[in-house]
Amino acid sequence: MKKPNVTETSNTIKFKDYPLDNDIKRALSELGFKQPLEVQEKTIPLILDKKDLIVKSQTGSGKTAAFAIPICEKINAEHESPQALVLTPTRELTEQVANDFSDISKYKALKCLALYGKQPMADQRRELKKNTPHVIVATPGRMLDHIVNKNVRLQDIKFLVIDEADEMLIMGFKEQLDAIIEKLPKERVTLLFSATMPAEVSALSEQYMNHPEQIEIEPQVSNINKIKQVYYGVDGLKKVDLIKRVIEREVPRKAVIFCNTQEQVDNLYEILRKWSNSICAVHGGMDQHLRKEKITLFKRGECRILIATDMAARGLHVQGITHVINYSVPFEQEQYVHRIGRTGRVDQRGIAITMVIPSEMERFRELEKFLEYRIPCKGNVTSTSTKPKAVTEKTTAKGRFKLENRKGQKALVQFSAGRNNSNLKAIDFVSAIRNNVEGITSEDIGRVDIKETVTNVEIFDGKERAVINAFQTKKVKGKLLRVKKG
Ligand code: AMP
Repeated sequence: MKKPNVTETSNTIKFKDYPLDNDIKRALSELGFKQPLEVQEKTIPLILDKKDLIVKSQTGSGKTAAFAIPICEKINAEHESPQALVLTPTRELTEQVANDFSDISKYKALKCLALYGKQPMADQRRELKKNTPHVIVATPGRMLDHIVNKNVRLQDIKFLVIDEADEMLIMGFKEQLDAIIEKLPKERVTLLFSATMPAEVSALSEQYMNHPEQIEIEPQVSNINKIKQVYYGVDGLKKVDLIKRVIEREVPRKAVIFCNTQEQVDNLYEILRKWSNSICAVHGGMDQHLRKEKITLFKRGECRILIATDMAARGLHVQGITHVINYSVPFEQEQYVHRIGRTGRVDQRGIAITMVIPSEMERFRELEKFLEYRIPCKGNVTSTSTKPKAVTEKTTAKGRFKLENRKGQKALVQFSAGRNNSNLKAIDFVSAIRNNVEGITSEDIGRVDIKETVTNVEIFDGKERAVINAFQTKKVKGKLLRVKKG
């Protein structure tokens, strides 16, 4: 198992002080877990006490063990029937969580099974029947398939964990979640973990939980202190050159280049693979085997640079990442913290480099406000310059780009969906615009401002008309919205 990106709690409570079976304590000690992390300290006693919990906590905080330790403790190993069900949004996370359960319950000899799509149903059915697991970790779609086909016993489920609930809802799993939970025994402990708590997640908890206690773990921004953050101002045409130069100069031992979309990953990979043979790429649209293969290459260090979307990198725990490069400014501010938290773990220092094109500048400034940190500018690269220009005091202080370089002015397009009446995220609007409006690129899309009931999207180069026209009939994540000039 990997080291967490959080500090341990300041008090002296140790796992050996908990009312846990010696088999569990022995496994924890072998894993090098001496004392509980903050999230574990807060949740373990309550879960042992069979309380429903809503936990706001990031990946990397130690949240998996926070539910896995007490659940493993409470499961009756002699009763060969599924007693805990953990639902997660991605295949990678499913495997990761199932492995964590197996590690923690190693000496208690619990059986843990990961179920996710794109693997033969028949094999999984056989496993479920012949080698009945105590713990099932599954993606909602595949779990529901097994329930519908009556492959799995649910009557002994005592624990339900909804992991990364926010991601689950963004990915459109609400209906499957409803259908699964409908079939579970009402007498159970329900635990909901989520990095963010939008209204839909709270609604989910009201629907399915019994007087849950709320726990909030602050994102460990302190870890950021170990990460040197810089940014380059660059115009879109120079981005690839700049990335190459940065890699040549920094010589990262291991780097992740984060892109905002799958298409960006594909395009960048196509260019960079001709330039270096140490590049691999992953995103959610790729075949699962291929994804796994690429991640393994990266883990082993056979390929030094991984290009990835946020989704594919969720739950990715790789030791020794020296550099995180943001090819684009992420749409969600917390996502930036997630991304750069891949480096600078525990006893290492890391470097996070962000490329900022003019249309992303406002979003980047908002991010700095969120971080309460002014990220130093390493240079500005424009189409006319060949090398990053040293930044003058004046530019850094103002931190502005010359938007005059752009062909047109920015305009706002307003969609009739916001925070309170939808669960759409900035990335949903951007993907929908890019996929449905001919001739538009990421560079034409600026800040996405999600308000209470509407969302304003900045569109450059006079392309707002094309966007408005397209969304008279096209949908944003399956929803037809009213759209007008903002
Ligand atoms: P997670 O938030 O579940 O992704 O956890 C991040 C990493 O923290 C896991 O890979 C664990 O190996 C590690 N971890 C969890 N609990 C502890 C602990 N009490 N002490 C040390 N490491 C831990």
